[in-house]
Amino acid sequence: MLSRLKTDIKERKEEDQAREREQRKLEREIERLDEELQLEEDMLLEQDEERESGVPEEELTCAAITSKGVRCGRNVLPGNNYCTIHEKVEQQADEVQCSHIKSNGKQCKMKTKNKSGLCYYHD
Ligand SMILES: [Zn+2]
Ligand SMILES: [Zn+2]
Repeated sequence: MLSRLKTDIKERKEEDQAREREQRKLEREIERLDEELQLEEDMLLEQDEERESGVPEEELTCAAITSKGVRCGRNVLPGNNYCTIHEKVEQQADEVQCSHIKSNGKQCKMKTKNKSGLCYYHD
C-alpha cells in the first residue's frame, strides 16, 4: 500500500516536471516569436522609410524575417509589404495551436484565432 502510494507520488512528480518543461519550452518559443515580431516591425519601418525616400515599388523587398533571422530579400507584391511566399504564411499565421497544456503534459491540438492563444474550449 505504502509503496503503491510512493509510486503514485513519483509519477505525479514526473508529470509535474514534464509540464514544467513544456511550459518553459512554450515560454522560450513565445520569447523567440516576440523577438521575431519586433524585428519584423523594424523591417516594416525600414520599408516605410524606403517607400518615403522614393524607392520604386518593384525594388522594395519583403519585410518578413527568414528562419535565419534576416530580412527576406524577395521583391514585394505590388502595394504589399511581403513577397508571394510570406504573404501566404501571414494569412495562415493568424490561426495558432491552442497553448493550453493538458494534465498529461501534452499541448491541446485545437486551432484558434483568439488573441489569448487558447481555443474556445480553454479560453
Ligand atoms: Zn518574403
Ligand atoms: Zn485548447
